[in-house]
Amino acid sequence: MSKNVLVLADVRDGELRNVSLESLAAATRVADGGAVTAAVFGSKAKDVVEELSHHGADKVVLVLDEKLDQYTTDAYFQAFKQVIEHVEPDVIFTGHTAIGRDVSPRVAARLGCGLVSDCTDVEVDDSQIVFTRPIYAGKAFVKKAFREGTVFATLRPNNIPALEADTSRSAVVEELEVQFAEDLLRTVVKDVVRKASEGVDLSEARVIVSGGRGVKSADGFKPLQELADVLGGAVGASRGACDAEYCDYALQIGQTGKVVTPDLYIACGISGAIQHLAGMSNSKVIVAINKDPEANIFSVADYGIVGDLFEVVPMLTEEFKKVLV
Ligand code: FAD
Repeated sequence: MSKNVLVLADVRDGELRNVSLESLAAATRVADGGAVTAAVFGSKAKDVVEELSHHGADKVVLVLDEKLDQYTTDAYFQAFKQVIEHVEPDVIFTGHTAIGRDVSPRVAARLGCGLVSDCTDVEVDDSQIVFTRPIYAGKAFVKKAFREGTVFATLRPNNIPALEADTSRSAVVEELEVQFAEDLLRTVVKDVVRKASEGVDLSEARVIVSGGRGVKSADGFKPLQELADVLGGAVGASRGACDAEYCDYALQIGQTGKVVTPDLYIACGISGAIQHLAGMSNSKVIVAINKDPEANIFSVADYGIVGDLFEVVPMLTEEFKKVLV
């Protein structure tokens, strides 16, 4: 049975995040002939219309209001709710990003709809939409099926491949004016100060080179950054490294940090505590470098290198440079 599906596009610094394209791919899977609509917020929303239509959007709803240029819970809540009331979708996707995780549950609760968070897969089986999500810190997966009613889902980045761009597609574009209850806009963003370094976004990176307490100092992260740069990836960290002030908490991966699913995760000097594994064990290929052959990180690694990371990491960088640079 065909479904109307809405995707809330996540735009950061004028760039569409990959997870929005992945959400469009998920939307196309479940639409089954229904319309796939993308909603984009902010005064520069028009800039991403083409990319959205090339990746599966049949219609793009633009809310070109300056109040939506920076994310605030109150403004996005009001705008998203009104877009949903206008589009009347059966299924609503957002990325499992800071924005999606904040706004989706609020609007779902207000509209009395169901929500499945942190989905890693979605399929249609016998007219039911079946969402897959990890449970028990990634040790098992549960499938949730919906036959009727409106449902929200947040999608974990890097799990559903985006569709190949089809440049012949062009979406119908609609500008929607939303009404803001000014007394409910309680937050004003005056400035955005970035803590983490610029570069590849950790939660969407295809390659992550991660350091633990074994890195020993802030300077010890330099060889990891060099390897990440050669591989076009991002640097992450264990909480051990963050607690020791070798790096910023924005890099922390794990149960109380970011959950990542890159194609390649290189763990350097990380013991493999269960709380760290909760954030990275679903990575497609895991390489562990640790001088302790008994380290628990080897239990989830596809490739293990027993050795000193300060010798191994520069060697890897040199070898990758030969083939990649
Ligand atoms: P260690 O456990 O100290 O491991 C360092 C490793 O480096 C060792 O295995 C050692 O053999 C190796 N090593 C040392 N020198 C070298 C070298 N030169 N070359 C190669 N290897 C070397 N942790 C997280 O990561 N993320 C979380 O989100 C998180 N959330 C938590 C939530 C709670 C409620 C609690 C209680 C804990 C949480 N932790 C989390 C902490 C977690 O339990 C571990 O303490 C932490 O992951 C350990 O970090 P580490 O592996 O870097 O340090």
